[in-house]
Amino acid sequence: MTDEANPFESLQEQVDDAAAHIDVADGLLERLKRPERVLETNLTIRMDDGSLETFRAYRAQFNGDRGPYKGGIRYHPDVSRDEVKALSGWMAYKTATVDIPYGGGKGGIVVDPTTLSGGELERLTRAFAEELRPLIGEDRDIPAPDVNTGQREMNWIKDTYETLENTTEPGVVTGKSPDSGGSAGRVRATGRSTMLAAREVFDYLGKRIEGATVAVQGYGNAGSVAARLLESELGANVVAVSDSSGGIYTPGGFDAAAAKEHKNETGSVVGFGDASEEITNEELLGLDVDLLVPAALENAIDADLAETVSADVIVEAANGPLTPDADGVLTERDVHVVPDILANAGGVTVSYFEWVQNRQRFYWTEERVNEELERIICDAFDGLVTAYESYDAPNFRTAAYIVAIERIVDAHAESGTWP
Ligand code: GLU
Repeated sequence: MTDEANPFESLQEQVDDAAAHIDVADGLLERLKRPERVLETNLTIRMDDGSLETFRAYRAQFNGDRGPYKGGIRYHPDVSRDEVKALSGWMAYKTATVDIPYGGGKGGIVVDPTTLSGGELERLTRAFAEELRPLIGEDRDIPAPDVNTGQREMNWIKDTYETLENTTEPGVVTGKSPDSGGSAGRVRATGRSTMLAAREVFDYLGKRIEGATVAVQGYGNAGSVAARLLESELGANVVAVSDSSGGIYTPGGFDAAAAKEHKNETGSVVGFGDASEEITNEELLGLDVDLLVPAALENAIDADLAETVSADVIVEAANGPLTPDADGVLTERDVHVVPDILANAGGVTVSYFEWVQNRQRFYWTEERVNEELERIICDAFDGLVTAYESYDAPNFRTAAYIVAIERIVDAHAESGTWP
């Protein structure tokens, strides 16, 4: 893992790379590279022992030309203003790549949630929801889960907002539990789109996904669901997985679902499977596998690690796992990368379905959710391939940004510039 690249600079470089292929006016290009606004706030809560503690929190609203700002809230000690700005930009380009009617946003609190009790986390989340209240709303900005947040935190945000606003507005936040207005299929949606993106890219490249060997770096929700679905729906063979404590490698493959159960019981995948060899995260990234799925945090692969990658295909389940320099190395080496803004877009796509269901007060079956998700991801992949071929783009990431930038620029142009 490297922390050298600033994710916000990475985002700006990705936008510049794609904009060079299309005609974007200078003044508009600046707009495409910066958030419209960033809230920075301090949340002071009472801890269980009676003391007070203050936590820094952010919400960046990147671009609202195509609809309300949309994106998750993460709880992590490494959250920073620049990280949140980058993540909000990746959301704007993600929603445009898969053509759902949203802009991009992202929030975060600088906190290690494992050090807080349930009560402390609830007070912290409700304090943040109160600060966010003037900015959010189902037609303004719609938060969702991200790293270390889930249904519980989203339910608290919804309840705080609805209580203070004296209304019912379940669509103010997505990723809720089903009893609070959550959608069927939302929890598994990010892993599902990662699986679908892998299927589509293997098909495009004329490779067989059945029996293909897979290594997954990061075994949280996105990585573990992708691994399970790659095995159960496509017959791929997961041979290595890792988390922040280390990794395991079994050349013959193993049951990805059982590895997740082991992690749930013990806190890590390490120690799972008698035949497994223990490996580091770096070793996992260099394994000679057919498919590599980075599913942890930003900057997992820098230029040096990119030189060691042996996989032919990378499908990004995490946001921003490759630095721009790593991208350059992998493009040179003919490694195909399906970018985050398409591969992990299942999460926000099913968030969109949740919001539609909330507004209609009419709920879909999981089967319908999965069918609609498959259509959106496959159409987006086809659009990416068309741009890749017709613009002679150097790689799939630049192709995806070309598609997304054109959609945002068109929406901005059609709305006109006022005043
Ligand atoms: N946090 C997820 C992402 O990075 C989901 C966002 C959402 O559902 O709005 O795409």
